[in-house]
Amino acid sequence: MASKAVAEKWLAEMANLPTASGREDAVQDWVRAWAGRRPDLKITTDTGGNLLVTIRGRRRRDPVLAVAHMDHPGFVVTEVTAAGARFEFRGGVLPQYFVDVRVDFVTGPAKGGRLVEYDPIDKTGLIALTGPRPSPGDVARWSFGRRRARKGYLAAPACDDLAGCAAALAALDRARKRADLIHFGVLLTRAEEMGFVGAIHAATTGSIPQAARLLSVETSRASADAPLGEGPVIRVGDASSVFDAELTNRITTAVRESGLTHQRKLMSGGSCEATAFGAYGLRAAGLCLPLGNYHNMGNLDLVEEGSGAAVPMLEEVALDDFHGLVDLLLVAAEAVDRDWGLRERLDRVYTEGRRVLG
Ligand SMILES: [Zn+2]
Repeated sequence: MASKAVAEKWLAEMANLPTASGREDAVQDWVRAWAGRRPDLKITTDTGGNLLVTIRGRRRRDPVLAVAHMDHPGFVVTEVTAAGARFEFRGGVLPQYFVDVRVDFVTGPAKGGRLVEYDPIDKTGLIALTGPRPSPGDVARWSFGRRRARKGYLAAPACDDLAGCAAALAALDRARKRADLIHFGVLLTRAEEMGFVGAIHAATTGSIPQAARLLSVETSRASADAPLGEGPVIRVGDASSVFDAELTNRITTAVRESGLTHQRKLMSGGSCEATAFGAYGLRAAGLCLPLGNYHNMGNLDLVEEGSGAAVPMLEEVALDDFHGLVDLLLVAAEAVDRDWGLRERLDRVYTEGRRVLG
């Protein structure tokens, strides 16, 4: 079973991998190698390139799948000309972050360049190159420079959602040692930042059993209401929808009883795959980590107010929140089959209290 130090190593490795929507190859390779070292795990790739990792053996219960996405907002090269590399930006980032910035190529032979053109409507632009030229399909991200992480935090290019992937796999690594959690598995999706494209593919092409209970694992923009370091979040909904009530209530009750540090919030700063799964008739609850420098947008609050400079930064998560999320996933995997007893509690209250109605 993975120690906290080992889980943190997976977290740091994954959150530093090159990735973008449609270009998740490095993450897929990492996960295949990870699962390949564990013969009791089975990994399958669906027709959209989503990865499903499950525990071999006979299940008595319907599957519980932790779902996280393997992509992160990034620059994908579409064409290389004498002027430089034309790119498509895949993901949601404010246009202010594309002004006079340096980028680093993280796949292929190219090293770096300067962003000289960006059209925020069709999200395309031009990178002036220094040194070797990239090829179409190569991925770049902002040049973040060096920064020492604060103690107790991970600062990395792509915590969203590689921290979710790492937490899901760390939970699976513990679940595989427990006979009662043989129904737990992990689904890692592609192209979430383009609008849940991989998740919708999985939902509509039969990759996800209809009876599965899904735990959508995200990183979600931290706020004064849901800050970094106050624990992982049971996410009751997002900007678009409220998640499966029964699953959420069961998880909430079990997590409260477990005494785990956690928050219970509506994270309305964005939408996540649980909304997509719900729309396609699957049952999904949401769990997340508060995320600093959401989508690499440093100073975002000030930029939104119009009073600060847009500085691309490494994303940040609190390590305690990460470990708490792994614990929470295991509690949730067990809790979804447990009656949370609300009706019984209310029946008791009614029996005792009805006298006051006369
Ligand atoms: Zn995101």
